[in-house]
Amino acid sequence: MTAPARQNLYRKYRPQRFAELSGQEHISRTIQSAVSSDRISHAYMFSGPRGTGKTSAARLLAKILNCLNPEIDSRGLPDCCRICSNCQRIEEMNFMDIIEIDAASNNSVEDIRQMRDKVKYRPVEGKYKIYIIDEVHMLSGSAFNAFLKTLEEPPPNVLFVLATTDPQKVPATIISRCQCFDFHSVSRRTIQARLEEIVKLESAEGQFPDFAAEALAMIAECAQGGFRDALSLLDQIASSSAEPVISLDHVLNMTRRLSYSTLKEISTAIFAHDLANLVRNLNDLYFRGYEPLTIGRDMLEYMRRCMLLKIDAEANQILYLPSEQADEIKAQVTPLTTRFLIGSVTRVERALMNIRNSFQARILLESELIRLAMGEEIFATEALEKRVEQLEQKLLAVKRLGSAPAARPSTRAVSPVARSASPVSASTRPAYLPENVVPMTVVSKVGDRFTDFVNAVGTRSNICRALLVSAKFNQPEKGILTIQLEQSFAASKLKEEKNIAFLLEAAREIFGQVNSVQINVPGATTEVVPQKNNHQEQIAKIDEQARQKLLQKASIADAVEVFGGEIIDLGD
Ligand SMILES: [Zn+2]
Repeated sequence: MTAPARQNLYRKYRPQRFAELSGQEHISRTIQSAVSSDRISHAYMFSGPRGTGKTSAARLLAKILNCLNPEIDSRGLPDCCRICSNCQRIEEMNFMDIIEIDAASNNSVEDIRQMRDKVKYRPVEGKYKIYIIDEVHMLSGSAFNAFLKTLEEPPPNVLFVLATTDPQKVPATIISRCQCFDFHSVSRRTIQARLEEIVKLESAEGQFPDFAAEALAMIAECAQGGFRDALSLLDQIASSSAEPVISLDHVLNMTRRLSYSTLKEISTAIFAHDLANLVRNLNDLYFRGYEPLTIGRDMLEYMRRCMLLKIDAEANQILYLPSEQADEIKAQVTPLTTRFLIGSVTRVERALMNIRNSFQARILLESELIRLAMGEEIFATEALEKRVEQLEQKLLAVKRLGSAPAARPSTRAVSPVARSASPVSASTRPAYLPENVVPMTVVSKVGDRFTDFVNAVGTRSNICRALLVSAKFNQPEKGILTIQLEQSFAASKLKEEKNIAFLLEAAREIFGQVNSVQINVPGATTEVVPQKNNHQEQIAKIDEQARQKLLQKASIADAVEVFGGEIIDLGD
């Protein structure tokens, strides 16, 4: 904490000429051309993410319009001279004809009325009077209405610049009266280059540390396309260390945020079913003091980006990511299905919601991410379980149905029958239903002791617990505990030596005398462990296996016969 009080970097390096408005050249050019050909609109709307230069551009517009002696830049367009008295007074924020209003705190109709009363007075110092209304979307509905009239017929030499991070919340009637400009997120590379310049300038002035290149790259990444965030972070970090050179580690520690590269690494482990790598990465983060909530929050945002970029290649228009990141994510999600990515977002979001109320946040996040890393199989299995449950309920409804065989529906539509179901005595049950139709047990709800067993496994290994999520168990016989799994992938993982040891230990703890654990995947003795990323094939295979299995079950086969149908869709 050695840095002396110095001027806020963002203020100090605020663009003072259009030439300095980095990352928004498309806007500078258009405004400068309009000034040069005297085609100024009386209302502008600047929209875009925070910290991308909207207010700076509004001030530049005010400045160029009031500059007494604009200079001509290399492209032949006018730019602020920075020398004339108007330019200087504007830079000192001491110019009476620029009025900045923060709509977040002045959003009432009364605020707008007050502004309207003053609008009619002529500019005092310069040629134009400019109203900059920041966060304009925060105005109330009646304030917008009160404003509309002024916006339609402004007095001569009065200009409005409306800035917003959320243009969707601005009424169309307002937008249609403005010339609109979209500010872009600034690319990581542009921000980094600017940070390098500033560090050089500041170091030359003394009392400012140097920064490792990757430390600046990280600051640029954390800033997510906004200069303002980048510079305030640079400011904070510079004054937080007495070291002559700031390292990447220091930046990571200070920001408490997961870097894009960390998120990419974790997600790559998830998408490649690389559980070990995933767990290693998570452990590493915990070791470095990251909270499960932070990890979950940043993961959710990353998964959302993956999902949106998968659904729409142009989604970066809403995400505002640096284009190189967007391209990398697009490449990353190419082999994945949209369904998997949507499921991933839901799962991480659910974990995040539960984390807030959990005493075991770390375990919760870990097991959710591990389940995610098990791939689409897990979704397919869950969908299947739900489907089987529904079928069971429908069957029970039929079982209770007292109608004669004549009432047998001619189509395989089940719901009308189920809806009209009413309890009847066993003596009136339809002859075609077997006596012994009972709900099937497909999931691990066989008994509490198996739940205890799964929990006992969980105390030894979260991965193993997650792998057992849809397992079926047989009561141990002759010292052998048999576990049936739906996924050959999970089975091969559980068969690893150390995992077998965990299972055996847990089994002994719960059931007593157990000498060995046998892991089966029905009908999959010759099946190989699925290759990475062939999810569609994998789901098709699971569906087919399940379909066959269900048909083997007497009750389902009966149901199929009853309804004269076939099982057509097992996944929702
Ligand atoms: Zn000037």
